[in-house]
Amino acid sequence: DQRVMLKAVTRCLWSNPVAGRRKMSHHISPNLSGRVAIVTASTDGIGLAAAEALGQRGAHVVVSSRRQANVDKAVSLLRSKNIKVIGTTCNVGKAEDRDKLINLTIEQCGGVDILVSNAAVNPFFGNILESTEEVWDKILGVNVKASFLLTKQVVPHMEKRGGGSVVIVSSVAGYQPMQGLGPYSVSKTALLGLTKALAPDLAHSNIRINCVAPGIIKTRFSAALWENESMLEEFLKQTSIKRLGQPEDIGGVIAFLCSDEASYITGETITVTGGMNCRL
Ligand code: NAP
Repeated sequence: DQRVMLKAVTRCLWSNPVAGRRKMSHHISPNLSGRVAIVTASTDGIGLAAAEALGQRGAHVVVSSRRQANVDKAVSLLRSKNIKVIGTTCNVGKAEDRDKLINLTIEQCGGVDILVSNAAVNPFFGNILESTEEVWDKILGVNVKASFLLTKQVVPHMEKRGGGSVVIVSSVAGYQPMQGLGPYSVSKTALLGLTKALAPDLAHSNIRINCVAPGIIKTRFSAALWENESMLEEFLKQTSIKRLGQPEDIGGVIAFLCSDEASYITGETITVTGGMNCRL
């Protein structure tokens, strides 16, 4: 009757903030114990949350980022949570840093089973036609090329362990370029392609490669998008779950993709956007 219909309509119009609340996890099974996981750009935000999620599941994690002080802080934070962790500086755009990261991991952890390629930069905001060659070199070099080169570098080590898992962090902007973020968005689209391009060849070595495309996650990197109240409101209009994502919302999905629970998933991208419309 009319009252029932009215109730249903009000329910649809009224966005219930409680519906978006995360429940605290009660028990996390140690399904990654014995595995070694490299996570790039893991001293803050999504990378740190991924390191924590992998560590909580028993993996020995290797954290890194450009600044030693950030590495030290992340290592002691994770150790305080009883996570097995080592750390080093690594700017993924530098070949010698990538070598150092891999070598340290092999020396100190005895091998590598998991790579999470999470590092990205965005030195440009504005009209795409104003972006320079320098901007493109930097964005594609760090976001795309380094993801490929790191993957290539860990493959022989994963083969020695009988297989492994790679997860690349893309973005919802990879499906629909964000205004003002043209070159960055294109680099994130390229990562969807990279994941698919690598999947068949890595499968020969029993290595799965998948991608995660986060929506708007509350981190320093995305501060420009959520600090401004009206911009935030605009973004939340596009989501079903009426809140910003938290780094932990992504960390768990990354850990899932690295686990044996995902043993038949490869070449895939999981969007984690609170219901933002970005693909069929
Ligand atoms: P964040 O919280 O600002 O953390 C960035 C991390 O990256 C820091 O640990 C930083 O430490 C490190 N870093 C920066 N440049 C690096 C480089 N060249 N080499 C190695 N480490 C580097 O950022 P975030 O939001 O978690 O972003 C992580 C990833 O998620 C990126 O790939 C980003 O594109 C993606 N993403 C984010 C969102 C979002 O809304 N936040 C949405 C979609 C996708 P140092 O300063 O010490 O290097």
